[in-house]
Amino acid sequence: MKRGKAIIKEILAGLLVLTGLARATRIFLWRDRVAVLLYHDPDPVTLDRHLRYLRKICDLVPLTDVRAPGTGRPRAAITLDDGHAGNAALLPIFIKHNVRPTIFLCSRIVGRPRTHWWLHPGSLSAGHERLKRMTNAERLAELAAQGFQQDIDDRPTGLSLEQMEAMRSHVDFQAHTRFHPVLTRCTDAECASEITDSKHELEALLNNACEHFAYPNGNYGEREVDLVKAAGFRSARTCDIGWNDQRSDPFRLRTIIVDDTASTRRFAAQLTGIPLFLRYLKEGGGWKGKFPQF
Ligand SMILES: [Zn+2]
Repeated sequence: MKRGKAIIKEILAGLLVLTGLARATRIFLWRDRVAVLLYHDPDPVTLDRHLRYLRKICDLVPLTDVRAPGTGRPRAAITLDDGHAGNAALLPIFIKHNVRPTIFLCSRIVGRPRTHWWLHPGSLSAGHERLKRMTNAERLAELAAQGFQQDIDDRPTGLSLEQMEAMRSHVDFQAHTRFHPVLTRCTDAECASEITDSKHELEALLNNACEHFAYPNGNYGEREVDLVKAAGFRSARTCDIGWNDQRSDPFRLRTIIVDDTASTRRFAAQLTGIPLFLRYLKEGGGWKGKFPQF
């Protein structure tokens, strides 16, 4: 079943590329705007292939250039969410392609032996999607019943301090809350702490300014935007599909989510935004639908 689905995705990707739709999207939608690509935990070989392909079709820019004037060519910024330990193995690839990615970290998970909640075996049995629909307190109670507590050391799944130290000259580390709750399911106090404290904790941990934020799971509303602004962040990335330019709202930056394991053909198709749109549509949304990814 899984293999069948993978084959169908490859065929659809092939169609998007062969029919010229991928190229047309680049010309008419992407234009010279910035595609902020969102990865999580890709392996070095796959990322190397993706970046090699990207360099042929666009310029790679840091996220801080997302609203800089266009140069006539499509641009892409690389972002990775959550600060997975596996990101450390990507450093040679970043250096090889001369790319400075932004990695959005959870301040109370990285740098210590903590586990991202959805990577704990207890969350699997409780059901990720079910957990995400609960209030934050309900989710934490359910996870506690399954043997997980977010502020207790456990199996490390995030980057260690040594790994971040080794990467910092080539990587921009920014904030992705403290523990990665769904912010829209948090109380006002929880939400404020997750946003504001993550900035201060990361600044203390990394000893550099933390000015950019990414909404966990892509969930945000007016309250979250206001808190991000009040905390002193200069931008925030959503999971809404699209490209960015000078007119973009810096606190609602759009993105193109990339499958960490995509073949180069599927990657080319994903750059159109169409596979992500279809996924959101299937899950009951649209350009701003439900966001099942972490
Ligand atoms: Zn995340």
